[in-house]
Amino acid sequence: MTDKLDIAATRRGFLTLAAGGGAAAVAASAAGQGAQAQSVRSNARIVILGAGAGGAAMANRLAQRLDGARITVIDGRAEHWYQPGFTLIAAGLRGAGYAKSSTTGWLPRGIDFIADYAAEIDPEANRVTTLGGQHVEYDYLIVSTGLELNWDGIEGFDLSLVGPENGVSAHYASPEMAELSWRALDKFTDDGGVGLFGRPATEMKCAGAPVKICFLAEDIADRKGNRGRTEFIYNAQTTNLFGLPVVHHRVTQFMDERNIEYRYSHVLKSMDPGRKIATYATPDGDVETGYDFINVVPPQRAPQVIRESGLSHPEMWLDQGWIDVDRGTLRHLRYPNIFGVGDINGVPRGKTAASVKWHLPVVEDHLVSEIQGREGTQIFNGYTSCPLITRIGRALLIEFNYSPNLQQSFPGVVSPLDELWISWAMKVFALKPTYNAMLRGVA
Ligand SMILES: Cc1cc2nc3c(=O)[nH]c(=O)nc-3n(C[C@H](O)[C@H](O)[C@H](O)COP(=O)(O)OP(=O)(O)OC[C@H]3O[C@@H](n4cnc5c(N)ncnc54)[C@H](O)[C@@H]3O)c2cc1C
Repeated sequence: MTDKLDIAATRRGFLTLAAGGGAAAVAASAAGQGAQAQSVRSNARIVILGAGAGGAAMANRLAQRLDGARITVIDGRAEHWYQPGFTLIAAGLRGAGYAKSSTTGWLPRGIDFIADYAAEIDPEANRVTTLGGQHVEYDYLIVSTGLELNWDGIEGFDLSLVGPENGVSAHYASPEMAELSWRALDKFTDDGGVGLFGRPATEMKCAGAPVKICFLAEDIADRKGNRGRTEFIYNAQTTNLFGLPVVHHRVTQFMDERNIEYRYSHVLKSMDPGRKIATYATPDGDVETGYDFINVVPPQRAPQVIRESGLSHPEMWLDQGWIDVDRGTLRHLRYPNIFGVGDINGVPRGKTAASVKWHLPVVEDHLVSEIQGREGTQIFNGYTSCPLITRIGRALLIEFNYSPNLQQSFPGVVSPLDELWISWAMKVFALKPTYNAMLRGVA
């Protein structure tokens, strides 16, 4: 595998296109793709599970690339959610509508769409069964179901608590919940008190997002002139605040400078909303902390249908069920006609939309090559990026891959560890057009 072409290392990352300003760069990319990738005739039956970031984009790419294939997309959610927008909504910078669109609006013509969830996958029989009992047989399966937010993993928590009355924020849940989370944060930064933040011990999507909302909340309290009346505590699941040591160090610097307390190895396990007490599991036993505001990010795992399918990794993440794919080709290690795209993959990095962007050409290459009777060459290098917002108008652009070092798409232009307006602009203005272009299969 090491001698294969490492496309993610030889091209720029997700945000490179964003920095190009959108339309022109997208058009150039689309033209380039069309010129390079010839249409391939096939009568293969391809089923795509999930029409989120990975599934919708994959459907568009395959519809453009394959002539005659029967592509079926299965997803029971009528709304498509642009989840990177949830952080902006939860900080009062956008409304819920910013992150919502219609699922079918992103899908190409000429495919079959089943508006239902997959309830059963039989990888031996090459068959998916929906909740409604429809059987769909496939030659190739692309799993892009995203992940499940396990709210029940926090005892005492319920989504009905979210909002200003209880001081509860849960912006991962949905656009509406992100908006209610903003109302809770708005009240907290008016009234003052103790605000708790943190992340789960499981793998999670956009691992920087809990830090981002903490920084934004502190900045908002400061801008309102209420910083003196607010206390901020960030709870890390381990002994660092970010997986890469150099970023961890930078984040601790910011937290020290801004008087945000951080606690290591504190994992939220339960809460008593009546008394406003949160309980954290720590190596020294449970610790109770009172709060006026709490941002809850729950444990995360593969959806139940995946955990019960036999597709999960047999040795790692046993409580979470991520699928057992080769980390370079994203092809299932036991069922070679199955590929994973997006958060569902059991790979060491990359539960971000930015990673999805680099999963797509790899899976397309291996799938189409197989149809053509040859071997694919493209390899995913673990690329992920996190525009780590530090305050309104400033962010760090953190990019990395399977190696322990930072990757830089803009050497000499964007210094990843500096708080820059350009990094903020990429997140707030350029990321969504880029994401949309990815969904359309042209970026
Ligand atoms: C608060 C927050 C902030 C984020 N910020 C960023 C960021 O700044 N940058 C970044 O790159 N990424 C960010 N992300 C992560 C990014 O949104 C995800 O990594 C990306 O959406 C993953 O794409 P996916 O296709 O794997 O899953 P999703 O986009 O979640 O789509 C999964 C789809 O599968 C469907 N599905 C689920 N179960 C089934 C089933 N049984 N059958 C059929 N369909 C099913 C769902 O309905 C959904 O439509 C953020 C996420 C959150 C929550």
